[in-house]
Amino acid sequence: MLDAPQPTSTEPCLDPFALAKALSGKHFIGGKLVPALSGATFAVVNPATGEEVARAAEGDARDVDAAVKNAAEAQKAWAKVPARKRGALVYQAAGLIRTHVEELSRLVALETGKALRTESRVEANNVADIFEFFGGLGGELKGESVPFGPEVLNITVREPLGVVGAIIPWNIPMMLMALKAAPALVAGNAIVVKSAEEAPLAVLRIVELMNRVLPPGLFNIVSGQGPSCGAPLVEHPLVKKVTFTGSVETGKIISKAAAEKLIPVTLELGGKSPMIVFADCDFEKTVAGALTSMRFTRQGQSCTAASRIFVERPIFDKFVAEMGKRVDAMVMGDPLDEKTDIGTIISPGQFSKVKAFIEEGKATAGATGRACSAMPADAALKKGLFIQPHIFTGLTKDSRLVREEIFGPVTVVFPFDDADAVLAEANDSEYGLAATVWTSNLKTALRFAHELEAGLVQVNQNLVVQPNLSYGGVKASGLGKEASLESMLEHFTHKKTIMVNMA
Ligand code: ADP
Repeated sequence: MLDAPQPTSTEPCLDPFALAKALSGKHFIGGKLVPALSGATFAVVNPATGEEVARAAEGDARDVDAAVKNAAEAQKAWAKVPARKRGALVYQAAGLIRTHVEELSRLVALETGKALRTESRVEANNVADIFEFFGGLGGELKGESVPFGPEVLNITVREPLGVVGAIIPWNIPMMLMALKAAPALVAGNAIVVKSAEEAPLAVLRIVELMNRVLPPGLFNIVSGQGPSCGAPLVEHPLVKKVTFTGSVETGKIISKAAAEKLIPVTLELGGKSPMIVFADCDFEKTVAGALTSMRFTRQGQSCTAASRIFVERPIFDKFVAEMGKRVDAMVMGDPLDEKTDIGTIISPGQFSKVKAFIEEGKATAGATGRACSAMPADAALKKGLFIQPHIFTGLTKDSRLVREEIFGPVTVVFPFDDADAVLAEANDSEYGLAATVWTSNLKTALRFAHELEAGLVQVNQNLVVQPNLSYGGVKASGLGKEASLESMLEHFTHKKTIMVNMA
């Protein structure tokens, strides 16, 4: 279907350094890998070594305009393709992600510093799952009939919105793109993605691969800076919907720009997710759950990280000690090494920000910050952005470490005595993304599940986003849901009403 030869091979490339070079300096627009119109590029850096591994095309308003116009043209024909057929094509394109899981895992590990075994491979598999899940939902794009009488036919139909602009961050770039692109495409829209500055490569490769199956122009991606490339995408007159994952500050800017155009916007923003541990929990499972909940393997760079842990006093000391011991046993090192549990922080900017939080915590009177695991010994990694995970106790509730999203491997743990008080404390946050409760008491579990102010509450587990379950926050954590059939219908279509009078 493509009219241009592809410089990269269809065969999976397991050398991420070579693939990074092959993808250098390109957007994917109108079915082709193309450079920025200005010719400008910026560096893509391996955070484990500080070395430049590729250049990314530095897009501006002109590249965005080209991508959106291509998308708008392609969308007209795509909207006429029966929805099940659209889904089937997306499902077929997902097959290319399946066959490239290993390649994509390595590439995303290289650019983000996320450990291959514990994080990057998991993400790549999830991406294939998400595209396959939505690919199977084409037939669900259906309407209703509303009986008014024998000579009147009232029906509703689901129509696509047009061109969707998607802006994504760097922490799970492939998966967050999939959560936007899969439902948008199956619903009959075209999409232009603006990748995150720090992680433009694996997402570019996914778009390139899927374009071997999808008609050209439907699925485009541009790279560039937020204000000079993301903002023009939001503001473009042909973009009829914006979907964004990132910081609260940028979410507000995007929401205002979308309001000017009166277009719908979906926002997935930050979190400061509480984990509440009752003394009657399954201790072993819950300590292990604290490590996964805090996403220590991703250096805590997750909106749903359990960055506030409340433990019932009788098991508090034992819990904190055991948590520390288990994080100590995790191996921090080269993200591409199978032995590594924990990789790096994404960028020097985030590195300094997280370090500043740790220093502030350590300087707080009465607080203890236990540094866990060990810095990598390998000399090749000495410039890597590694930070030891920290578990803080003894902080007060007004500390910045307790109130603000750190997006690093730092969690704070508090003892509690009273269920009502801990519920109030857990809810005392501007965020409301996710929460977990750990107890063997069903009554307690259900009470907390209902009363915690969060878009997602899990009991005795903390899984990542699951296809088919709506995901999204309340309060400052966002607007709208992703990952489910309802999210596709609500956020990527509009319901048209048709009334036919045959009297
Ligand atoms: P983070 O702190 O995770 O980088 P940001 O919200 O700054 O969070 O970035 C998330 C995404 O939003 C990135 O792709 C970034 O380039 C983009 N972005 C940043 N500023 C703007 C803006 N003014 N308009 C549109 N997109 C932006």
